[in-house]
Amino acid sequence: MNLRDSIRTIPDYPKAGIQFRDITTLLADARAFRQAVDELVQPFAGLKLDKVAGIEARGFILGGAVAHQLSAGFVPLRKKGKLPHRTRAVEYALEYGTDVIEMHLDAVHPGERVVLVDDLIATGGTALAAIDLLTQAGAVIVAAAFVVDLPELGGADRLREAGIEVSTLVAFEGH
Ligand code: AMP
Repeated sequence: MNLRDSIRTIPDYPKAGIQFRDITTLLADARAFRQAVDELVQPFAGLKLDKVAGIEARGFILGGAVAHQLSAGFVPLRKKGKLPHRTRAVEYALEYGTDVIEMHLDAVHPGERVVLVDDLIATGGTALAAIDLLTQAGAVIVAAAFVVDLPELGGADRLREAGIEVSTLVAFEGH
């Protein structure tokens, strides 16, 4: 099946000009969900990985399934103030203003091999902040994997320029 057909587009959400690529329809479709997880996992089959890191919130759903499939641990990267133990934070720029993501200090140990997972890469700002957090903890970033790429926004290229291997399953034009 074509995964693209299982992703719903909501025009002008959350604001005018944005085509929101809604993966809840993919997640609700058993075959599409399984195929997406299988395709996300495929580049890493047979590699030794310690952890999958997922970005709140859709990255938790996909990253949890990928971690299970790879017999790796799962590390949640969360919005500010959500994690209960000691954390490290990284601030990153949004189109208007800034945002912060956090990780538990003891979630990743130096030298651990980690794959980053999220539903979508746009400008790459969120993923680069996540990679910064993981790198500060001493992780080795094996790759970053996304279901959706918005290539016009250049995020996947930014990650590749930073030396990160990137895999994406479906590309959509526009923002
Ligand atoms: P960015 O940091 O610009 O790469 O944005 C990626 C994050 O914003 C991901 O966590 C996405 O879930 C969300 N996002 C950005 N643009 C869209 C879009 N057009 N449709 C759905 N989610 C988006």
